[in-house]
Amino acid sequence: MNAKDLSNRLQKAAEFVPQGAILADIGSDHAYLPVALMLQGKIAHGIAGEVVVGPYESAKKQVAKNGLTEKIDVRLADGLDAVVLNDHVSTVTICGMGGVLIRDILQRGKENQRLSGKERLILQPNVGERQLRTWLVNENYQLTDEAIVAENQKIYEIIVAEKVETTPEYSAKELFFGPVLLKEKNSIFLEKWRHKLIKSEKILASLRQSDQDVAKKIENVAQEIKWIKEVLADAGK
Ligand code: SAM
Repeated sequence: MNAKDLSNRLQKAAEFVPQGAILADIGSDHAYLPVALMLQGKIAHGIAGEVVVGPYESAKKQVAKNGLTEKIDVRLADGLDAVVLNDHVSTVTICGMGGVLIRDILQRGKENQRLSGKERLILQPNVGERQLRTWLVNENYQLTDEAIVAENQKIYEIIVAEKVETTPEYSAKELFFGPVLLKEKNSIFLEKWRHKLIKSEKILASLRQSDQDVAKKIENVAQEIKWIKEVLADAGK
């Protein structure tokens, strides 16, 4: 693949990066995203942050191979410790990790004053989307856009968030499905939730067989199943 090209998943995240952005890509194995965006002329400067030495070295190599060492800084750091406010980062991408890990990176970034609050966040959790959305909304981020893509038999969601003055209001159902995705209900979204319904029904059946105290779990899974059925029925109309 040409360094200008990205996989479906990363390309979709890239589409939300504004023209001329100063981009920090956190967890930037191979620095694929900042390198492609710089080669496409979309970003003004890039920072690739990596906490593990192997991927950090791969990112450095990819940047050097494409003649971009002046334009993309590769930094070995944990999460948002890769940036300082003086970098004037305008967009943060965190892709390909669990939603809870992304949430924890953002929380530490906030505590360590690495976020000005003016950044656009473009997040691609592999799982744990609800927990991530919940953190964002509690921190006054509006969920400005979302996308869902299929790649290698897997389905991925992308969440775009920007901080606003007052806490935005979303229902528990919107935080579960994603407010934008729920409105659109496109074919990939419906495929994801059809699969999830089968899994959740199996989980519910086995919870009902359990001799442990799983009443709360049963209640949660039953609620999710109800929502999924409602959404699928609604889309079928
Ligand atoms: N972002 C790329 C993508 O979406 O294709 C790489 C995804 S890869 C599965 C996750 C990367 O995040 C790994 O290289 C891992 O070392 C890195 N990572 C995990 N936790 C991190 C943290 N706290 N700070 C920086 N990088 C982290």
